[in-house]
Amino acid sequence: MSLDTFIGTSVTLLGLVLGSAVTALSWRLPRGESWVHGRSRCPGCGHVLGVPDLVPVLSWVLSHGRCRHCQSAVSFRYPFTELWCAAWAFLAWRHMGLVPALPFVLLWGTLLVTLVWIDHDVQLLPDVLTFPGILLAVAAAILGPGIRHAMFGMLTGAGMLWAVSELYLRVRKVEGMGFGDVKLAAMFGALLGAPLTLLTIFLAAFAGSIVGVTMMARGRGGMKTALPFGVFLAPAAMVAWLWGDGALAAYAHLLRP
Ligand SMILES: [Zn+2]
Repeated sequence: MSLDTFIGTSVTLLGLVLGSAVTALSWRLPRGESWVHGRSRCPGCGHVLGVPDLVPVLSWVLSHGRCRHCQSAVSFRYPFTELWCAAWAFLAWRHMGLVPALPFVLLWGTLLVTLVWIDHDVQLLPDVLTFPGILLAVAAAILGPGIRHAMFGMLTGAGMLWAVSELYLRVRKVEGMGFGDVKLAAMFGALLGAPLTLLTIFLAAFAGSIVGVTMMARGRGGMKTALPFGVFLAPAAMVAWLWGDGALAAYAHLLRP
């Protein structure tokens, strides 16, 4: 096995483990349960999950997506999240190589995935996740493109999200977005820098409006249904970090060939 294969495999396995931490964290945090103490239980029968139930992806596949004890269905979200984090770890390593900033970027993405589920479930982006996320992004930026890159990105992201939520409040008289989105924008802005932060917000708004229009067409929710924007922002930030530079370069080339 070549060194590259070995590192790639290790990083991917680390991603799987981080993914199972995400599922535990995104379940426990909104319920006020301890992060580290206490064992994970089956939500159906309360059976304490053992080692065979906690092997990422594999235990879900082998048990046909059901609890071994009560046969209640185990959400596809669990293996999906584990694969998502594994893919993130692998792609992040491919993108930046084995550099000192890699662990920070891995954890940053892991926190983003956690935020997606919590925002999806309870429409919250808790400070206990966004604040460490900002610190991780700033640390990674200092090791890479520098502190100015982080500052401009944070100002751009947080500023835009703040402006949009103010506008929303004035025009619609409802609070469409929480201040959590502003902190989330600082969290991805610090790592991405200003141009990719704008790309992220554009991508998220685009994806969000497609989903919103689809939901309205199906008669679910009207104009005033607040979509959790973090669900779109966080994955868009991950996509922008991985492929945004290439996309922006191609776009610039298109304008001025
Ligand atoms: Zn069960």
